[in-house]
Amino acid sequence: SVPLAFFGGVGGASRCGVLVKGSNYLEALAKVDTVIFDKTGTLTTGTFTVTDIYSADLDDQQLLELAAYAESYSDHPISLSIKEAFGKEIDKTRVSETEELSGKGIKAVIDGKLIYAGNKKLMADLGIEKLPVNESATLVHLAEGEKYLGYVAIADTVKEDSASAIRGLKAAGVHSSVMLTGDRDAVAGKVASTIGLDAYYAELLPGDKVELAEKIIAEKQAKGNVVFVGDGINDAPVLARADIGVAMGGLGSEAAIEAADIVIMDDQPSKLSTVIKIARKTLSIAR
Ligand code: ADP
Ligand code: MG
Repeated sequence: SVPLAFFGGVGGASRCGVLVKGSNYLEALAKVDTVIFDKTGTLTTGTFTVTDIYSADLDDQQLLELAAYAESYSDHPISLSIKEAFGKEIDKTRVSETEELSGKGIKAVIDGKLIYAGNKKLMADLGIEKLPVNESATLVHLAEGEKYLGYVAIADTVKEDSASAIRGLKAAGVHSSVMLTGDRDAVAGKVASTIGLDAYYAELLPGDKVELAEKIIAEKQAKGNVVFVGDGINDAPVLARADIGVAMGGLGSEAAIEAADIVIMDDQPSKLSTVIKIARKTLSIAR
C-alpha cells in the first residue's frame, strides 16, 4: 500500500506546476545523485535569433530563404526560429522532398535542387571540410549537393531560471549536474560556465547521448538515481532510459510528455529542486 503522505507529495508538486505521474517517482526522486540535462529548450529558451549570415555567392536574404525552405517541414527549435526570421509565407509546393538527419540537420529538394542545412558533421558527410570560421554561434550551414553555400548563425539564450536551478540542486544534495547536447563545443561550454554545471558533453549524435547516459546511469547505480531532463526532441530514448525522466511541458513534444515520469508544466528547470525537496519531506513523513 502507498502511504498517504505520498498522495500529499504528488498534490504538493502539482500545486507547484509539476505533474508527478506516480508516487513511486517521488520516492525515487528522494534518492537522486545525478541530474542530466538536455541543452536546447531545457536549459536554454529554444528560441534562436539570427545573429549573422555568411553567403559565398547568393545574397544573404536568398540564403535565409533557402534555409527556411529546407526547414519548412520540421518542428525542431532551430527550424522554427529560422522560419520566424525569414518571416514570409513558405510555398511548400517548391519543396518536393524532405528528410530530417537527426543530430545533424535536414536534407530537402527545393525547386528540384538537393539542399542540405545543418552542422559541420553534415557538411563532413558531404565531403565539405573547410568551413568559414565563426567563434561561438550555432551555425546552420547550407550546401547544394556538395557545393558549400554559406551559413546562418543563430543564438539561443540561457533561461533566466537555469543558474538558480543548478544552485538549487546542489543545495538539495544532488552530487552532479551535467548537460548533453548535439550543439558545438564552444556554445555548450559557454552555457555550462554561465550556469555552473559540473560537466558537459557536446557535439553528440542522438545515439551518443544514449550511450553516455547509460554509462552515467551504470556508474551512479550504487550512489543513487539518475534523472534526465529534456524536451524530447532527439532525446526521447534517453528520457526513457533514465531512472526518472522529466519533460518540459510547454516546449516539449507530445511524445516526450507521454514518455516522461514527471512533467514540468511551465518549463522552469528550477522546479526540479522544488520537487526533490517535496519528495524528501514526503519520504520523511511516510517513514
Ligand atoms: P540539442 O542536443 O541541442 O537538443 P539536437 O540533438 O536536436 O540538439 O541537434 C544537434 C545539432 O544538430 C544542432 O545543434 C544543429 O547543429 C543540428 N541540427 C539538428 N536539427 C537541425 C535542423 N532542423 N536544422 C539545422 N540543424 C539541425
Ligand atoms: Mg534537444
